[in-house]
Amino acid sequence: MAAANKDFYQLLGVGEKASPDEIKKAYRKLAKQYHPDANPDDKRAHERFKEIGEAYSVLSDTEKRKQYDQMRKFGSFGFGRGRAGGPSPRPGSTRPPPGGPGPQDFSFDDLGGGFGNISDLFTSLFDRGRTDKQPGPGAGRRGPAKGQDVEYVVEIPFETAALGGKVSVAVAITEECTTCGGSGAKPGSSLRTCAECSGTGNVSFGQGGFAVKRPCPACFGRGQIPEDPCVSCEGRGTVRQQRKIAINVPAATDTGSKVRLTGQGERGRQGGRPGDLIITFKVKPHRFFRREGLDIHVTVPINIVQATLGSKIRVKTVSGKKVVLRIPVGTQAGTRFRIRGQGLEKAGRQGDQYVEVKIEVPDTLSDDEQKAMEEFAAASGLKH
Ligand SMILES: [Zn+2]
Ligand SMILES: [Zn+2]
Repeated sequence: MAAANKDFYQLLGVGEKASPDEIKKAYRKLAKQYHPDANPDDKRAHERFKEIGEAYSVLSDTEKRKQYDQMRKFGSFGFGRGRAGGPSPRPGSTRPPPGGPGPQDFSFDDLGGGFGNISDLFTSLFDRGRTDKQPGPGAGRRGPAKGQDVEYVVEIPFETAALGGKVSVAVAITEECTTCGGSGAKPGSSLRTCAECSGTGNVSFGQGGFAVKRPCPACFGRGQIPEDPCVSCEGRGTVRQQRKIAINVPAATDTGSKVRLTGQGERGRQGGRPGDLIITFKVKPHRFFRREGLDIHVTVPINIVQATLGSKIRVKTVSGKKVVLRIPVGTQAGTRFRIRGQGLEKAGRQGDQYVEVKIEVPDTLSDDEQKAMEEFAAASGLKH
């Protein structure tokens, strides 16, 4: 069909540095000019109309445009699995050139005149070529495709985050059904061609002749239907499985930090490599310790006698040690002490532990205590 080496900029008649506004303007103008309604019997106009739609869907999307510019720089045009039929955007991909579905005929009237709609529809067509973005069995794509990345937020205990360690996470992953080996057929039973999609695995739907292909719901995109469905997967060929995964937590892990476990995500299709598992850590708060960077902060209560006469107290550190801290005579509430080297360690740097004292005042006094307090007040000339 169309040439693989299509220059989207040329198609829209704009320069490489054209602004989004210029691109939009150029597209609108050309779309009007080549619109099928305006050129009812002109096949070339139809073709052209589709091409500029394709060009616009890429150049109007910042991400796709960036990707396209990259490919263009290296001399390989064509984009994903659009009508271009060009090389895959992913270098090294073995996906065969698609005989694929392109945007069919469509009419502005059916789209309510909204340009956004067109762009959205094109986006969904292109996204099917970008396998790591689109979940699901993804019919309409042939050949190996990378499995989807799976993201989880994992809550970890404060100490594990501080000192490092391991946590175990149960992850639900779609796995190939082991009973039927992914065919969806009960072992020993045969498969027949799906009548719904005539074996293509896709069904087209759309309004006003603008057809979009989607995985066939009857055969789950496989194009074949088991005579007798596998009981383990109900004919799907895949099952959701809980997988227990031990995850290493580096010392001084913060909330929001991520680890990527390559190949632990959803399985790939037709021999494609599996996706990744991306874990985002969320550190649980601690009732005693707080963290600020590599430093640990705690608040410790002392009584009025300890504050007044001085004392020695024991303070727990995050590593479980107990450190003796000297409280000097006349310590005021809110005084902060530093215990060196008892914070977190990361990349050769070592934090400290800060201890802030609060002074606890007795809320009730016995008769003796009352008397002693009044004597103290008289002796020191304190009014009350
Ligand atoms: Zn099965
Ligand atoms: Zn089908």
